Amino acid sequence: MRPEAFDEMVPWLRDRYGNPSGSHSLARAARKAIDEARDVVAECLGRMPREIVFTSGGTEADNLAVTGVIGQRGGTALCSAVEHHAVLHSIEVLGGKTVGVHSSGQIDLDALVDALVNRTDDQVSLVSVMLANNEVGTIQPLGQVVQLVREHAPHAVVHSDVVQAVSWLDVADLAADVDLLALSAHKFGGPQGVGVLAVREGVTLSPLLRGGGQERERRSGTQNVAGIVGLAAALKATVQQRATTVERVMYMRDRLADGLALAINGCIESGDRVNKVAGSCSLLLADVESEELLVLMDQAGVCATAGSSCASGAMEQSHVLHAMGIGPELAKGSLRLSLGWTTTEADVDHALEVVPQLVDRLRSRKPLQVRSRADQLQVRA
Ligand code: PLP
Repeated sequence: MRPEAFDEMVPWLRDRYGNPSGSHSLARAARKAIDEARDVVAECLGRMPREIVFTSGGTEADNLAVTGVIGQRGGTALCSAVEHHAVLHSIEVLGGKTVGVHSSGQIDLDALVDALVNRTDDQVSLVSVMLANNEVGTIQPLGQVVQLVREHAPHAVVHSDVVQAVSWLDVADLAADVDLLALSAHKFGGPQGVGVLAVREGVTLSPLLRGGGQERERRSGTQNVAGIVGLAAALKATVQQRATTVERVMYMRDRLADGLALAINGCIESGDRVNKVAGSCSLLLADVESEELLVLMDQAGVCATAGSSCASGAMEQSHVLHAMGIGPELAKGSLRLSLGWTTTEADVDHALEVVPQLVDRLRSRKPLQVRSRADQLQVRA
């Protein structure tokens, strides 16, 4: 956690432990802390303070956006095929549809227009496209998405899950015309279990949680004061330091990705590096089962993952790689190395030393059949 966030949180967990919905002095102090945090978050996102709704995290923010808009307006929803499950499952359960992506992971804009225009069923009330993908790091052309939605479905609301983008991209600028934005504090050095849905003035939502009417009736429940204060402190530090962090981390990511590609036969990058956020190093290793590799890497002090993290910790076939046209054989060897503001050159050196050795060790147990890049990438026609 960012020290700025931790330090801000501690008093609200200990002696300033008031319920912000009360009326006595401890309660009023907690409410003031939330109001100040709301101002900070609004400024960082280029929104108005009353547009900021604090939630329990990115999942709740995405669910509130999708379910809240469709619950209020009816109609149906569309999203890209590479969304986080918090968006994907919310849309699927409401009977909405996905729009395909190119092999780079970027949304197919022609397919989006087609899905908006050629409809025989309900009109589209919500379109959800993330700014940066959590598995591959792909940056979506959000400005173009918004333009196309305004042109072809002017009544629809645009939601963007910017959970993975905040650390690397100027969300205030890139998502300026988006109606709903979902954030999660633990992706930018804040605490787990707290997030934001920014809701453009005039967009109304059916709440997921009803009760005491907190957050202007949009999210009932006693607010997580320490979490909210920590989120705001982490977001402020992230935005202030973003330009230098991006430069430093991008250099390390390139060194890591290029170094591994050179040291490991049959190692290719998924997606298109020019359209990826700085902290994302997503690789495909031929003839390797990443499940086995990850165990060995963990023992060697490199914590990584393959696709997205889910509660069971179990590995499932990545819907993101599948949507990008990567076949199951190669997707089995997917490796997702994430870099962040705490990553050092020494961490990169260590990964560069350890990962090729472990891949060799695994491959030496079975016959090596490293194929050409064309064979590996079973990209859809
Ligand atoms: N959206 C994206 C893109 C994510 O990467 C995540 C978490 O990994 C979420 C949503 C869910 O956020 P949270 O873990 O705060 O519920």
